[in-house]
Amino acid sequence: PAHTNSLEAYWLPFTANRHFKKAPRLLARAEGMYYWNHRGEQLIDGCAGLFTSALGHCRPEIAAAVADQLGILDFSPPFQFANPLAFELAAMVAEITPEGLNHVFFTGGGSESVETAMKIALAWHRVRGQSQRQRFVGRERAYHGVNFGGVSIGGMVKNRESYGIGLPGVAHMRHTWLDENRFLPGQGPAGAELAEDLQRIVDLHGADQIAACFVEPIAGSTGVLVPPQGYLQRLREICDAHGILLVFDEVICGFGRTGAAFGAQSFGVTPDIITMAKALTNGAVPMGAVAVKDEIYDAVTGAVPEGGIELFHGYTYSAHPAACAAGIATQRIYREERTFEGAAALAPRFLDRVFALRDLDAVTDIRGYGLLAGIDLAPAQEAGRPKPGARGYAVLQAAYEAGLVVRVTMDTVILAPALVAEDAHLDEIVDKLRRVIAAS
Ligand code: PMP
Repeated sequence: PAHTNSLEAYWLPFTANRHFKKAPRLLARAEGMYYWNHRGEQLIDGCAGLFTSALGHCRPEIAAAVADQLGILDFSPPFQFANPLAFELAAMVAEITPEGLNHVFFTGGGSESVETAMKIALAWHRVRGQSQRQRFVGRERAYHGVNFGGVSIGGMVKNRESYGIGLPGVAHMRHTWLDENRFLPGQGPAGAELAEDLQRIVDLHGADQIAACFVEPIAGSTGVLVPPQGYLQRLREICDAHGILLVFDEVICGFGRTGAAFGAQSFGVTPDIITMAKALTNGAVPMGAVAVKDEIYDAVTGAVPEGGIELFHGYTYSAHPAACAAGIATQRIYREERTFEGAAALAPRFLDRVFALRDLDAVTDIRGYGLLAGIDLAPAQEAGRPKPGARGYAVLQAAYEAGLVVRVTMDTVILAPALVAEDAHLDEIVDKLRRVIAAS
């Protein structure tokens, strides 16, 4: 079993990490801001699980709700039936989404939410006699999960190319405003004109060919790429002008990470569809959701008398009772403890600490918004040539050994502490990271 010390004895059939044999990084227990590994050593969590555990780990109210639910109703078939918790959680989610997005589809996680949103977009256009609208627009350096549609619209070229072929008809907007906004907390002034890439794609393929444009309000997994001022607004305008649905993938941004319920509210732009997961259930049980505008919901669920279709869609685990119980308990705490307001108040103190790392020689840029930050490191050199990713990986390992869990993507360190972190936790995270980077 994984909690013993003698990992070397195992064949390691789990594929979490190909370097496991050299340097196993196991997390065996968690509480609040901390993990403990298989040797009983304590580590502070700098990434709220994987952007999941906004309220810290192992909240007793959530654990109890899930345990209770598994003794009351452990499963209900999701298609012809439902369970009362599904309605309750959907109402709680709808209450905090931007105005007009009042209907919710449940999924098993972020990747499923993205696929669901893509299908809803296609169905919406079909209902309106626009079945030729089959193209999707994504963005370079975007991450939309690992399923077929999400990889295709995603902007990680290596991920797309691993499979040789993706969905046809997908175009990607550029995402290269970073150099001009170096070391700026919040939204930089330069780069909003890159939204014109959407117009360029419309002009190239025809306005009536495009189903939807997908963006993360802040691209999270690829290094915390904060949109320049006016950028998301311009995407909204172009989508409106051409009947294109705007989808915000808020799997990371959702539930307070940006200081409001959703990035949509932080940035003042209302999309047609929002995908979410992770902190929906505080990460305690896998679950995702897709919130859609009322007219879209009506059209794709057959609620409109003339011309509506009933989307053939749903997963066995859609609105699973245990996930709903975790979701309801989580959403209750967000309300009772005013977690999102707390995150907004904490954000400047977090960003101050993170941006102080700019004096380190190895740090080449820092970006941040809310309780989300990306710290770029100069790549390691090997035989006079940069070796991308090597320094990032070394920092990940050294941080683990120093009692800190961070997320690393190539040579960028990502911090996303729980929204309930205290100043002393932020100090501990940033101080440890400083020492690890300085020694890298
Ligand atoms: N979309 C975004 C924006 C994400 O950040 C992620 C996961 N990091 C996903 C989709 C995929 O979610 P999951 O891993 O739950 O399938």
